[in-house]
Amino acid sequence: MKIGPDRGPHGQALVRGVGDEAEAEGCGGSTVEADNKVWPDLRRNPRSPPRGLCAMGWKSKGWGQFSSSLCRSSLADTRYASLLAPRYEKNWLPAPPVGKLIAGSEYRQPLSNLPVLHPVRNPRCYNRKGQTLPGFRQNFMSQPSAPQSMPVRLFNTLTGQIDPLVPSDGQALRMYACGPTVYDYGHIGNFRTFLQIDVLRRFLKLSGVEIRHVMNITDVDDKIIRNSSEAGLSIGDYSARYVDAFFEDIEALRIERPEEIARATEHIPRMVELVQRLSQSGAAYKTEDGSWYFRLASFPEYGKLSKKDLSGMEDGARVDVDEYEKDSARDFALWKAAKPGETAWDTAIGHGRPGWHIECSAMSMEFLGDSFDLHAGGEDLMFPHHENEIAQSESVTHKPLAHHWMHVRFLLVDGRKMSKSEGNFYTLRDLLLKGYKASAIRLALISVPYRHQLNFTFEGLIEATAAIERLRNFHERLVNGAFAAGENSDIQTAAKDAQAEYMASLANDLNTAEARAPIFDLIRASNSAIDHGRFFDCDRNAVLKVLASFDAVFDVIEDHDAEPTKRAVAWAEQSGRQADIAPELQARLSLSDEAIDALVAERTQAKKQRNFARADQIRNELAEKGILIEDSKDGVRWKRK
Ligand SMILES: [Zn+2]
Repeated sequence: MKIGPDRGPHGQALVRGVGDEAEAEGCGGSTVEADNKVWPDLRRNPRSPPRGLCAMGWKSKGWGQFSSSLCRSSLADTRYASLLAPRYEKNWLPAPPVGKLIAGSEYRQPLSNLPVLHPVRNPRCYNRKGQTLPGFRQNFMSQPSAPQSMPVRLFNTLTGQIDPLVPSDGQALRMYACGPTVYDYGHIGNFRTFLQIDVLRRFLKLSGVEIRHVMNITDVDDKIIRNSSEAGLSIGDYSARYVDAFFEDIEALRIERPEEIARATEHIPRMVELVQRLSQSGAAYKTEDGSWYFRLASFPEYGKLSKKDLSGMEDGARVDVDEYEKDSARDFALWKAAKPGETAWDTAIGHGRPGWHIECSAMSMEFLGDSFDLHAGGEDLMFPHHENEIAQSESVTHKPLAHHWMHVRFLLVDGRKMSKSEGNFYTLRDLLLKGYKASAIRLALISVPYRHQLNFTFEGLIEATAAIERLRNFHERLVNGAFAAGENSDIQTAAKDAQAEYMASLANDLNTAEARAPIFDLIRASNSAIDHGRFFDCDRNAVLKVLASFDAVFDVIEDHDAEPTKRAVAWAEQSGRQADIAPELQARLSLSDEAIDALVAERTQAKKQRNFARADQIRNELAEKGILIEDSKDGVRWKRK
């Protein structure tokens, strides 16, 4: 990284990243203030290049050079990283976002985009190590999880490489994600996709990117029509229960709701209009039965997303089902003429209903425009669904439908493909009824990065449960502990490094596995410092902020587990699935909060009366039902395991 030739109006330096080796140059004769400290004028150090650069958390390895890893961990934290301009200029500039530096690519940002953060009154040319600058702390340190301009880099299926993901209009990132087809309860494979998209949207928000996220609900398709007619219900009545279940399930998993949710049946006119436009351009044709098909031969770029070789494609061969075999590229249905008794709409293109693919083209363009930033979905949707969406939309607009395509990989269960016939098929509800917590399911499904195949196992769920226990216990220890005033510089550094590493890992193609590691390292270091009386009030604040950043994306520390479990049990009871409720879960839920409070009070009373046998008996009874009692100097607390 080098200070580039660009200078702001006050002579501030802009930063450019080049190559792997980070080199500190620039800022002739300046003082650098960061990390609550004023660092020396770099010129005074004989080993220093004539100019200097610094960022919060930068560990000196000789003033001249520092390795790219140090650079990465320090500069990641752009909130704090600052440059001071040559000749004692008075304004701060944020350092470059770390993603660019990791890639070794050039970083330039027009000065107008760089906020002036904090005027520095008296830059000093010596190191006041350990001395706190109140203004700095107040302005930056006290903001929990403040947005950081961290460019997210994400694998792009279309280009086959990891590309920066930025709003093309410079404002909000417009993203479309294929939502559920509501003909059954969602299984964990579906939810892995929705959870990984949730990780992306939360990280974008944490990085200060505004988003406009649209998700569709496919409430008319082959399966819904078939199942509803078998059940003797209208498609609306049939799908309503699964729409409600879907929202309950995503709430249980703490998946944030997109800004817009579009139901296919409410956007039929847009789909009809799109078919008409395709027909005008010759890309759509009508068959004798009144259905409409997309003419694949009219779109030579077909296959560009999935990179399929379609040279053997049969011209004019047709397929009328929504999902079809891999590697068979055929003219596909845009609009299906109604068969007797089927739900249908009377429209300008005939009596019928839309095909699945046209729904997403019509709704994404309706909400996000002809061209938007990101289209996401499970890997199974890449072909033919997304390929068909591209063909339909781009035939009309002649613009790229989406610049960036994200596909989440499938999961295996116990090393095998999940299927009902294999007996390894699980909905979210199945797992909740087995007694697993929603938070553990969330963590297990997001901890493997989205481009890797996740092998889902019950051991994995137990591990996730233990990891959450560790996080929650540690969080509680910080919140409830009493710590002396002051700070331990090792912990302060560890917290900054953990935060930087965490952000950098997520910015690097959402590497959730790598992002977890520094958080648990920080917990270990902090626990050890607490045990040895070397953890202070300021350390608590610093570490809590890191945990807040972690939870802004992972969202498992705050305990919301009781409600989803209760709801799943109530649902099982209503739908005749009592037998699926695990006995341990039943035992756990047989005690109400009030009953537990009463038993805890009785135990306290028994202890006062020195009736220790009764006190122990109550503790054991509660433990058998998964209730843990903790005696502390502030009284007795209990929690459900
Ligand atoms: Zn779709």
